[in-house]
Amino acid sequence: MHKPIKKVVIAGGGTAGWMAAALLKKVLTDQIDIELVESEEIGIVGVGEATIPPIQIFNQYMGLDEKEFLRETHGTIKLAIKFENWRVPGESYYHTFGAPGAQLGFCPFQHYYLHAKAHGLKASMWDFDLNYLAAEAGKFNIIKTPNPVYEMQYAYHFDSALYGRYLRKLAEKSGVIRTEGIIDEVLLDPISGAVHALQMKDGRRITGDLFVDCTGIRSLLMRKTLGVAYESWSHLLPANSALAVPTERFASTLPYTRSIAHRVGWQWRIPLTHRNGNGIVYSSDYLSDDEAYDTLMNNLDSKPLAEPRKIKFETGRTSQQWHKNVVAIGLSSGFLEPLESTSIHLIQSGIVRLLKMFPNQGISDAVVASYNAESKLEFETIRDFIVLHYHVNERDDSDFWRDMRNLTIPSRLAEKIALFREHGSIFNDAQDIFRDASWLQVMLGQGIEPKDYHPAVKVGSPQALLAAMQQILQAKQQPLSQMLSHDEFLKRYAGI
Ligand SMILES: Cc1cc2nc3c(=O)[nH]c(=O)nc-3n(C[C@H](O)[C@H](O)[C@H](O)COP(=O)(O)OP(=O)(O)OC[C@H]3O[C@@H](n4cnc5c(N)ncnc54)[C@H](O)[C@@H]3O)c2cc1C
Repeated sequence: MHKPIKKVVIAGGGTAGWMAAALLKKVLTDQIDIELVESEEIGIVGVGEATIPPIQIFNQYMGLDEKEFLRETHGTIKLAIKFENWRVPGESYYHTFGAPGAQLGFCPFQHYYLHAKAHGLKASMWDFDLNYLAAEAGKFNIIKTPNPVYEMQYAYHFDSALYGRYLRKLAEKSGVIRTEGIIDEVLLDPISGAVHALQMKDGRRITGDLFVDCTGIRSLLMRKTLGVAYESWSHLLPANSALAVPTERFASTLPYTRSIAHRVGWQWRIPLTHRNGNGIVYSSDYLSDDEAYDTLMNNLDSKPLAEPRKIKFETGRTSQQWHKNVVAIGLSSGFLEPLESTSIHLIQSGIVRLLKMFPNQGISDAVVASYNAESKLEFETIRDFIVLHYHVNERDDSDFWRDMRNLTIPSRLAEKIALFREHGSIFNDAQDIFRDASWLQVMLGQGIEPKDYHPAVKVGSPQALLAAMQQILQAKQQPLSQMLSHDEFLKRYAGI
């Protein structure tokens, strides 16, 4: 294992495989040979269209031109997710990428907001968030100003298959070797038990020093060959099925994802420039496939372009994401339902983590242990954030929602909810990709009302605080006049 790494083999060419190939080559240049093996006959999972803002860092580092990227991937702007019917049917709230309010003093904004509300403020927390105001108005523009009051963060909706193809062009141009064919067997070194080579169906044998398993749900290297155990979280997130269907594009493109809760599970609606992505996520223990099909097809806003495609999954993760000389990235390393659009981000952070710890002179136990500890925490914090949406509900229309409410949730999440409920405070783990503003919006949106807030906000007069709140509300409205409708933006900016 302490052998210098001269060649990396990436097994699989979905979004994970090509993101890994492109970034590893960009950073490691010609010091390391990279070969990617994929099979067109097997194909890719072919879903996954919504992202979160750190994807911009990946694209910028890869040197992608944003306009070209939007054109190549049929991309649109994502400012938020609108959660409909999640607390109770008929109600909705947004989880935006923005930050409500402004820095007013020692405490986070929500404490000042709660104090102002106790003294008659009528506005909602979201009225203080530019992302929300723009999303509701269907508007967007890139606003470059140093004033943090105008902070607006965004991500994208895009066709992930096209994104993979786009990155493939870049990766191959910079020297990544692509090999087409089916991996028949993964050969192990009889002494170390590490992967020695990929035995192809056509007889070729592909050797390497470090193997990145991007073979999707099959997890050919990590689970199937090395036998790394799968830690199932289906007791916390029982959804195990999805039906995905593309539909015709709308005349006006929303700058946000819709997540619509149903009697069992939920439905996504993602606007792209050539079509919409739709799908339903559900648990087959509570809803039959036929009922899920009917729910999805009866809740489409435009004409379906194909028959729905079924995907089965089990929520959880491989108990190690790096074992011997194999690193699992993408669906081969675990699955979390796409409620908060985190899978592509997990691919990105897995590759970045591998690069940070790249075992130039050979793989050591210390590197493997650090990689696994960080990956575990990252997966768990996302899992907890997703569980929050389900657990804190007041729906009473099915056993599914009642069972989710009665779950025994992980203690870290229980503490987070209790702290917010008692004191209006949020403390985040370093590995948590969701910032305080994200937890705040979902906890408030799901109906948790803090009983108290920080005493420091009571220092000034309530009248002065209410006046400051009015000023912030007005300031947040100002940039809207510089924005275009989302479609006009895409047309003028990217020529779509
Ligand atoms: C219903 C659903 C909705 C989703 N929505 C989102 C979303 O909105 N946002 C988000 O971030 N993520 C989402 N995801 C996750 C996202 O689709 C994946 O994270 C992403 O596509 C990466 O997949 P992958 O590359 O790991 O696997 P795959 O796309 O399955 O690629 C696997 C690769 O391995 C190759 N392969 C496998 N076996 C062999 C073999 N024997 N020989 C040769 N090659 C082989 C295949 O040919 C393919 O190239 C969603 C997932 C599902 C299931």
